[in-house]
Amino acid sequence: MYYCDSHLHTHFSFDGAPEATVDAVCLAAIARGLSEITVTDHCDINGEVEGIYAPYRMEAARDAVMDARAHYAGRLQINWGVELGQPHQYPEAAKALIDAGGFDFVLGSLHNLTGVPDFWFLRYEEMSEVLLHQLFARALQEMVEVVRFPGVHALAHLTYPLRYAAMAGRKVDLAEHIPAIRALFAEMIARGIALEVNYSTLRAGLGFAMPDEPILRLWREMGGERITLGSDAHRPADLAGGLDEALALLQRCGFHQIVTYRGGQPYVHSID
Ligand SMILES: [Zn+2]
Ligand SMILES: [Zn+2]
Repeated sequence: MYYCDSHLHTHFSFDGAPEATVDAVCLAAIARGLSEITVTDHCDINGEVEGIYAPYRMEAARDAVMDARAHYAGRLQINWGVELGQPHQYPEAAKALIDAGGFDFVLGSLHNLTGVPDFWFLRYEEMSEVLLHQLFARALQEMVEVVRFPGVHALAHLTYPLRYAAMAGRKVDLAEHIPAIRALFAEMIARGIALEVNYSTLRAGLGFAMPDEPILRLWREMGGERITLGSDAHRPADLAGGLDEALALLQRCGFHQIVTYRGGQPYVHSID
């Protein structure tokens, strides 16, 4: 069994806990028996251009990760990544960031639809069923653009909007979205893009991973092989929280391997 975490935040993320220094995260990873982590602080590209998110201090984050990589060599494999939000909305700025960063791993994500606030801010309690489904349909369309973006290696939290809907007591039946999810997966498989299993929702007790079992089974059925695993922890105490449940989920779906990225290349690890 290989324990790793390919999605975590430090204090270089605008929403990272103050105690989440790179050093503290590395120590927590070692204490939990992880062999490998990838630091993926937020760069929501709209933050750089529109100011709707805090700007990303790429150089400072990279210096801290490189220092840690040298310091913990032989004890923990530390990869330099980024969670790049909405690259397709400002392609020039996103390309410049990727070019300047020299990342091991670029985790593409969609936190907000074009011209719409982050899914976190939407009011699901009052939303009609129709609007809820429209939002998710639009999210799937924009995720196709995220996975097409040059330099992106994996797609984060496919069902991100459903986390907040679930927290507001709203359940979204994905049946009508399966054709769009199939189209997205076909695009990812053709491009070799990995699917992230984000288990922050398992840790939060919501009872499902992002994405959950039926969608993971669809990925497998369509020939999807590359999977990354991410806790999406924003503080050291949450690191790898829910990992055992996530691994059990993958095994139940028939997966035997996961990947991590180093130097932009996938490395395969057994989870048997
Ligand atoms: Zn995210
Ligand atoms: Zn994240």
